[in-house]
Amino acid sequence: MAEEALAKARGRSLSAFRGEAEQEWKAPFYFIQGADPQFGLMKAYAIGDCSSGGDEWDQELKLTEQAVQAINRLDPKPKFFVICGDLVHGMPGTPWREAQTRDLENVLKGLSRDIPVVFVSGNHDLGNSPTPETIEEYCRQWGDDYFAFWAGGVFFLVLNSQLYFDHSKCPEQKQAQDQWLDKQLAVAGKRACKHAVVFQHIPLFLQAPDEDHDYFNLERSVRQELMDKFRQAGIKAVFSGHYHRNAGGSYKDLEMVVSSAIGCQLGEDTHGLRVVVVTAEKIVHRYYSLDQLNNQGIEKDLMDLMKPN
Ligand SMILES: [Zn+2]
Repeated sequence: MAEEALAKARGRSLSAFRGEAEQEWKAPFYFIQGADPQFGLMKAYAIGDCSSGGDEWDQELKLTEQAVQAINRLDPKPKFFVICGDLVHGMPGTPWREAQTRDLENVLKGLSRDIPVVFVSGNHDLGNSPTPETIEEYCRQWGDDYFAFWAGGVFFLVLNSQLYFDHSKCPEQKQAQDQWLDKQLAVAGKRACKHAVVFQHIPLFLQAPDEDHDYFNLERSVRQELMDKFRQAGIKAVFSGHYHRNAGGSYKDLEMVVSSAIGCQLGEDTHGLRVVVVTAEKIVHRYYSLDQLNNQGIEKDLMDLMKPN
């Protein structure tokens, strides 16, 4: 089979990081987290109708190109670029989805070949109430909706958070992810990984672990169960998007990090990306605007953050 330009997750793992060597800790490294390029939302938001598919996405296209440029010029190179969902705005079955998908994929192909992209599924990618068909369509296009990989001695889990939001139309898929997750968490709990980290589109919570449930976080009992499972397995941090604003908090020693969007902003943040540095002791991160990344660079910050203390 010809090698895909963007290596997508298959068989619940990621070919870019399949080697045994990735299970070993060697040295501090960093990765880039982005969220919600969501091609089409800016237009839909501008006309005051976010439920429409968004028939223009020139702005998101340019912003994502800027993101790709910024990542390509980073030195040293990041270990990978994870996009935490809502790749496009058009929901399954809506008119602009196919063109938005094609355009996003073409922009991402501009990313340096030695920086793997890790795709996470969002509600716009799967539908708010996913079905076996919408999940299958997503997987065909962007790879598995949930999977695990080791990179640099750290264990990473990518989850389909839509199955925790509404699984009424896909109970079997929900159950399958739950069973798979328990096995992975057992791995994280037992093996000598330096850290374990989760990526999912919908945040567990935005600021406080006991905050009320709304559109932007998970239902409280579902959230509690996940937080406890994650903590027990030694997960250090969960990185999400969906909120189109930066936010976050902690549940005991589990950190919840919510990153704003590459695309449409719903608050006061700038279009940007998060730089996440992993050292033997800790995981530190900082959100940068695309302009900052492209114009000022972050080499000095990286050197500081990666220094062991
Ligand atoms: Zn979303």
